[in-house]
Amino acid sequence: MPRTEDNKSAEGPGVEDMNIEVQCCGVVILMLIWYFSLRQKPLGLESQKLFLLTMGVTSFCLVLDIVSVVAICYRELIPVFLLEMICKTYIVSLVWVGYCGLIYSGNDFVAAKEDFRKRNRIYTVMALTGTVLIYVLPIYYYHEGVVVYTYGPSCIATYIFALLFVLATLYKVGVKGKEINPKRRRAILMWMFIWIVAAVTQFLNASLLLVGFASVIGVVTLFFELENPEASIDKETGAYNAHALGEYAKQSYRRQEPFSALLLALNDAVVASEEDNSSQVSVLLCSMVRYAEKLKDVKVFKTLERELILVTADGERMQEVFQDVKRYMENIWGENREEALAQVSPSYVLLPDSSMLRNVEEVFQLLRHSRVEVRKALEGNGIILDEEKIAHFKEQETIEAMIKAALAEDRIEVFYQPIYSIKEHKFVSAEALARIRDKDGNIVPPGKFIPIAEKNGLISRIGERVFEKTCIFIKENQLRERYGIKYVEVNLSVRQCEDTSLADTYILLMEKHNLDPSCVNLEITESASIRRRNNLLKNMEVLIDYGVKFSLDDFGNGESNLNYIVDMPVSIVKFDRDMSQAYFANQKAKFVMEASMHMIHDMGLEIVSEGVETKEQMEAVAALGIEYIQGYYFSKPLPADEFLRFVAEADF
Ligand code: C2E
Ligand code: MG
Ligand code: MG
Repeated sequence: MPRTEDNKSAEGPGVEDMNIEVQCCGVVILMLIWYFSLRQKPLGLESQKLFLLTMGVTSFCLVLDIVSVVAICYRELIPVFLLEMICKTYIVSLVWVGYCGLIYSGNDFVAAKEDFRKRNRIYTVMALTGTVLIYVLPIYYYHEGVVVYTYGPSCIATYIFALLFVLATLYKVGVKGKEINPKRRRAILMWMFIWIVAAVTQFLNASLLLVGFASVIGVVTLFFELENPEASIDKETGAYNAHALGEYAKQSYRRQEPFSALLLALNDAVVASEEDNSSQVSVLLCSMVRYAEKLKDVKVFKTLERELILVTADGERMQEVFQDVKRYMENIWGENREEALAQVSPSYVLLPDSSMLRNVEEVFQLLRHSRVEVRKALEGNGIILDEEKIAHFKEQETIEAMIKAALAEDRIEVFYQPIYSIKEHKFVSAEALARIRDKDGNIVPPGKFIPIAEKNGLISRIGERVFEKTCIFIKENQLRERYGIKYVEVNLSVRQCEDTSLADTYILLMEKHNLDPSCVNLEITESASIRRRNNLLKNMEVLIDYGVKFSLDDFGNGESNLNYIVDMPVSIVKFDRDMSQAYFANQKAKFVMEASMHMIHDMGLEIVSEGVETKEQMEAVAALGIEYIQGYYFSKPLPADEFLRFVAEADF
C-alpha cells in the first residue's frame, strides 16, 4: 500500500506534514452520519443493521488509516512490530469493508434468514482467509525522499481480496441486480465505482490517500439513498411511515417470520368536513402513537391520513394489544366521551396471522378491504381476520381475477330466458342474463360473480358487455320481425345507474349497432340513497327520451316499496321469485301480492311474475290478471342459439 511522507522536515514530522486532511474530513462526515443514524429508534430492518455494521467497519478503517499515517511518520519512535500491526490491521480493515459491501448488497436477494447466514458464511471464510494471509505475509516499507509506502506480499493479498469482494458485489448487483431494490442497486454501484477509481488513483499516485475516504463516500451514498432513518418516519406523529411498513413486512415475509397487524382507522368522512376536528384527530393520533410505542414488542406505523397499523410478531400478543388500544381509545376523552367517539368512530381490523396470505400486497389489500367492510357494518367496530375470513377474501380475489380474465378474453356470455304473454299466448320478450364461461368451458352463474363485481365496480364493464351483446343478438336475428320478441330486458346494477355517463354510453352502443331503442328494456332495482336516486333519474330521463323503456326488478324481495314505483318512470314491474312463490305458500303474501298488483295496474303499469315453476302456479298467476310470466315452467335461461330454437318451436 503506498504511503506518502511528503514535506517531512528534518526535525521530524508535525501534523501539518501528514497527508491526513482527507481522512479527517471523512471522520467528521462519519460522525455526523452516526449521529443522524442513531437519533431515531431502530426499526429492526436487516438492511439497517448491515448498514450500521458497514459504517462501523468503515469508521474503524478510517481511524486506522490516520493512525497508520501517523505511525509511519513517527516510525523511529515505535517498535517495528507495532508499526507492522497498525499498517496490517489497516489494510485488513479494507478487506472487511469490501466484505460488508457484499453482504449489504446481498440482503435483498435471499429468501430466508437461514439462507442468508449460509451464504454469508462463505464470504466470512473468504475474508478470514484474507485476514490471516495479510497478517502472515511480510510487509515492507519503502522509503525514498519524501515518499513512504508499504508494499510486498501482504499488500498484494489485500488488493486481491478487496478486489474479489468488489468484483463479487459488482457481479451480484450489476448482473443479477434486477431482483433488488433499484435504489440500493444504484447506490452500491456508485460506491463500488468510487472505490475502484480511488484505488486506481492511489495506485498511480502514491501521494493521494483516497481509498479510506472512498469508503466514507460509499457510506454517505448509502445513507442518503436508502438508510436515512428520517425517510422512514412520519413527520406528523413520529411513528414509522407507510414506506417503512412495506419494508418491514417484506422482510418478515422473506424470512418467513410471523407477522400480525392491527389496523386502527378513524372516520374520515366526518372529520374531513370540520376543520378544527382535523387538528383534534392529529392530536389523537399522536397520543395514540405515543401510547402504542410504549407497548411491549409493538411497532407503530402511520400509513394513511387517519390510519395507524400496529405490528408484532406474535398473534396472541396482538389480541392483548387490540384490547389495550381499544380501552385507551375509549378512555381518552373524559367527559364528552360518547360524542367524541361518535365523531371519530374508530374501527379496528386485526390480522393475527399473515401466514395464509402469499405476500405483503395481499396483507395490505386484505386490511384495506376489511377497513371498508368495518365501516359498512353497522354493528360493532372491529373485525378479526380469522382463517374463515381470510379464505373468503381469497376466494373473492380469485373470482375478481376470473371476471377480469373473462372480460379480457371475451368470455362473458349472455343467456336469454323467454317471457310469456298471457294475453297473447306467446313469448313476447326475454331477459338477458350474464354468464361467464370459465377456461374449462364450464358456465359460471351470475350469483357467483355479480355481487363481487358490484363491490369492485367491474359490474359496469360486465353490464355494458351484456348490453352490447344483446343489441347485436337482437339486430342480427331480427328478433322482433322473425321471432315476435318485441324487446329484451337487460339488467342494470345500482352501481351503473349512479354513473352519470351511463345514458350516453348506452345510446352510443345502440347507435353503433343501429338498434331501435324500443327493442330493449332496462331493469333497475331500488337504490337507497337520494344521490343515487337522482343520478338514476337523470339517466332514465335521457334514455326514455331516446325511446328506451324501464322495468323495476326484484319487487317483493323485502327492499321494495310502492313509493318507489310512484317516483320512478317505469313501464313494467317484475315480481320477484320469492313473492311469486310466497303467493302460493301463505295467505298473507296472497293479500300483499293482490293489493300490490291492483295498485300497480291502477298506475297503468304492467307486471311480470318471475319464478313460476309449475303449471298450477302459471294458471293461478294468469287468473290473477298478471300480464307476463317468466319462469322455469316455460324455460330456464338458454344460450342464444337454443333460445332462438326454443322460441321458434314453442307451443304453449
Ligand atoms: P334477476 O334479474 O332477478 O333474474 C332472474 C333470475 O331468476 C335469473 O337468475 C333466472 O334464471 C332466475 N329464474 C327465473 N325463473 C326462475 C324459476 O322459475 N325458478 C328459479 N329458481 N329461478 C328462476 P340468474 O340468471 O341466476 O340471475 C341472477 C341474478 O343475477 C339476476 O336476477 C340479476 O340480479 C343478476 N344478473 C344476471 N345478469 C346480470 C347482468 O347482466 N347485469 C346485472 N347487473 N345483473 C345481472
Ligand atoms: Mg332481472
Ligand atoms: Mg328479477
